[in-house]
Formats: sequence, C-alpha cells, structure tokens
Amino acid sequence: MTTTLGTASAGPGEIDTGRLEVGETRDGSPVGLPVAVVNGSDSGKTLYMQAASDGDELNGVGVIQRVVPQLDPAEISGTILIVGIVNYHAFQVAEHRNPIDDTKMNRAYPGNESGTSTERIAAATFDAATRADLILDLHQGSTSRMLDEVRVRCGKRHRLHDQCLELAKAFGCGYVLDQKGPDGQLARAAPDDGIPTVDPELGGAVGWDETSIRTGVEGVWNVLRYYNFLEGDQPLETQTRARGFEQYGAPEGGLVTLRKELGDRVQPGEPLFEVTTPFGERKAEVTADSDGIFWRARRLPQVATGEYVCSVGTDVGEY
Ligand SMILES: [Zn+2]
Repeated sequence: MTTTLGTASAGPGEIDTGRLEVGETRDGSPVGLPVAVVNGSDSGKTLYMQAASDGDELNGVGVIQRVVPQLDPAEISGTILIVGIVNYHAFQVAEHRNPIDDTKMNRAYPGNESGTSTERIAAATFDAATRADLILDLHQGSTSRMLDEVRVRCGKRHRLHDQCLELAKAFGCGYVLDQKGPDGQLARAAPDDGIPTVDPELGGAVGWDETSIRTGVEGVWNVLRYYNFLEGDQPLETQTRARGFEQYGAPEGGLVTLRKELGDRVQPGEPLFEVTTPFGERKAEVTADSDGIFWRARRLPQVATGEYVCSVGTDVGEY
C-alpha cells in the first residue's frame, strides 16, 4: 500500500521525499516543510520523527540528514514518516521561535489548522505524527551546553508513562529527564492520543555538534532495532534518570565561571559557579541546593542579575 505525507509518496520497498504545505510566506510562495516517507518492504509499526521544532536546534536535522540516506526500505519492516524541519520560519532566520507570531512551536500542540502560523504548523505535524505508533521529537538544549538526554514529558501518572520510559530507554543515550512538561508539548499531546512520545535532547550547540549528532543517529538505530523495524537484537541498557530539575540564576551581574562540568555529580552546598567583576573581583558564589547531576549551562559568561546560569538534574536514580 502506498504511503503519502505531503507530496512524498512511497509504495512498499520505496522511499520518497517531498513537501508538506502549510500556508504561504509573506510573498505568497508556499510554505513547504521538507518531508520523507520510508515504506518498508514488510509490514510493521510506524515511526514518526521530526526535527527543528525550535528553529535554532539543528542537531536533529543533522541526525535525519545522516539517517535517511542509510535507510534501505528493502530491509525495513514498517513505515517511517519524517518532517525534517518543523519550524519553517524560525529555521530560515536561525531563531528559536517562529518570527511570524513570536511563538514557541513546542507550546502549541496539538495545534489549530485555522489558527496562527505556529498553530497551523503544529496541527499539520500533529496530524502526521498521530498516524504513527511511536514518536521522536528531536530537540536540544537550544544554544546552551547540555548533556545528551531524552525527556519523558507525559508525567508519572499518565497511562503511557511506562511506554514513554521504555522508548527513552530504547533510544539509550544514557540520561533521561522524567518530568511532566508544560502544556502544548508534542510529547504531552501525543501520549494523550495514545502514542508513546519522547524528546531526545541532543546536547546544545550553535550550529551542529558532532558528538550529539552521532548520539542521536545511534539512538534512532537503537529504536529501529528495538521496535523491530530492522533485524537484530537491541538490548536495553540502564539509564540514569532525573525526576527533578533545578535552575540557577545569577544573584548579581558580572561574569560567570562554572565550577562543575556537564555530567558531574553535585552535592548540596558545593559551588556551582561564581560571578566576578571584569577585574576578577568575586561578587558571588552560588552553591547547589540539592544533590544531583550538573545538566545544563549557559554558553556566554556575561550575566545580568537573575539571568539563567545552569541547571541540575535532581532526584537521580537508575532504571
Ligand atoms: Zn527544543
């Protein structure tokens, strides 16, 4: 049976690329999200993947760009639906939010097909995503520095929590943040429709980060093997899971020097960072409130009072 997504159309054993049209740009030309359909020779599950829901998060685009040419439909059981660039307008200008309506895509799901620019793109991609049995929404910690991790956003009381955790474990990049996300995330809206969904968060970079892209490529192959799209055993590996997330801001303005590296264990009272003047005089030292793992940190050293500096994953265990 032929599978289509936008103008991409593939029969069994075929792969095709095309565009999924969602309205028009300001000059009246079509907004066409780049899409791909991989229709396996044998039947099986359907996987949906998307990247660049946030327009400055390019590592996921790097993952898809490497995975798709390596997919051989003759060896695949099932179907893979891909939207390579979701946040069309933000991607054009290398910004996080859609500049047409200054909105974050991952607060707009399940979207509205007659709504704002962001809501329409969310609705079109939600339509495609909810045709699948499994969803990977490829993100990263924006341009901050962050661990490679996978987020489970449905919340621990959700009926699909275990299935989302299993998908995160199958992706297998080592760290999982298991914390209910804000309303409007794809990883919250799609589980409500009964589809296990996770956000692989592939590091954080300006442009592409080679290590995080490789981790993401490996994660996609792991998922394809674990859910039997591809032959081969895919054992699950123990993941380090944080169930809390503490964010630290600067108590004073100045220049930040971090005292921890990403992935470091942190004990309460240990220094996380200090703030100094341009002349090296120390103004403040900030220590950890809880034990956990040093998870994410700003890239630029200069901060105003109250500005974001770093995050610690807390309530840490293994599963
Ligand atoms: Zn993101």
